[in-house]
Amino acid sequence: MKIAAVLFLFSVFSSSITAFPHFFPNVSSIPPSLLPNITAGAWDSFNNLSGCHLGQKVPGISKLKNYFHYFGYIGNISKNFTDDYDDALETAVKNYQLNFNLNATGELDESTVKQILKPRCGVADIVNGSSTMNSGKAASMTGHTVAHYSFFPGTPRWPRSRRDLTYAFEPRNQLTDDVKRVFTNAFARWSEWTPLTFTESNNYNTADLKIGFYGGNHGDGEDFDGVLGTLAHAFAPPRGLLHLDSDETWIIDDVFASGSPSAMDLESVAVHEIGHLLGLGHSSVEDAIMFPTISSGIRKVELARDDVEGIQVLYGTNPDSNSTTGPSFGEREMSGAHVMSSVVVQIIFLAVGLTLFVL
Ligand SMILES: [Zn+2]
Ligand SMILES: [Zn+2]
Repeated sequence: MKIAAVLFLFSVFSSSITAFPHFFPNVSSIPPSLLPNITAGAWDSFNNLSGCHLGQKVPGISKLKNYFHYFGYIGNISKNFTDDYDDALETAVKNYQLNFNLNATGELDESTVKQILKPRCGVADIVNGSSTMNSGKAASMTGHTVAHYSFFPGTPRWPRSRRDLTYAFEPRNQLTDDVKRVFTNAFARWSEWTPLTFTESNNYNTADLKIGFYGGNHGDGEDFDGVLGTLAHAFAPPRGLLHLDSDETWIIDDVFASGSPSAMDLESVAVHEIGHLLGLGHSSVEDAIMFPTISSGIRKVELARDDVEGIQVLYGTNPDSNSTTGPSFGEREMSGAHVMSSVVVQIIFLAVGLTLFVL
């Protein structure tokens, strides 16, 4: 019993530090009694800013400026942000609205706030001051923008000599085969359309692509922010790092039921982040995998025409594919899933762990 108690205490202590990711095979595996517990998202306070516009001073605007700074819409500044809705913020809001196909009013109207609140990829929409999305591209006279795939500045890609890439998982995450299989499937979505192949390696240090779940500050200057907010990020070639927020409630099965305020489909996020690993930036095409936001409870795993066109500019087509029988574009599996607080989930895991130790 003494050893069990020590082990239990150790598990509590270590779990708060390493923030083990929470996985559920599907919604029905989450205890119904815990479903009503929904943790507030990282950006919920932006709801209070709905209707704000140039010239106003409202508490919370400084946090919104940080948000726009993080995603590249406001450049580097030498001092802390104020709560003034100034010209820089108005320009940022306008560019954001252009990128997300909203009316470019520069005001925080309801539809803009709704979009801002959506969980999203942590990779910036505007890198080094140049937008890779709509706001950086010429709009036609009719107001319709030329919206399509983009690349990182300098168009980094894996060289021609590196078409067979290896990937490995952060050993400390101790991921199960079920979780690893999600990534296998996600990689297959890209290899289907390109000459690239992806093979799992047991050697994390030498793998081309390194995948890991981390919480908060994890050493690369791109801190995660708890439930919702940013979900994951990945670095352009040849860095090969794909990081996911361990504080999310990740669903790994492909069956999503209805109603899911905070459960995220792991494969949907993995397919998007692999796009970054291969050199794709964000796209303003809402159906595209490379669109920056994804709503909770949504499953979106199939490449759109925009994604395929972008990746084939970088790598060419799959020499083994039969173009007449290839998969159709634009099909989406969309549905919802139930959720629960990640904190409560962690408590369940610990309780199960204690039971096992006692037994
Ligand atoms: Zn992204
Ligand atoms: Zn990271």
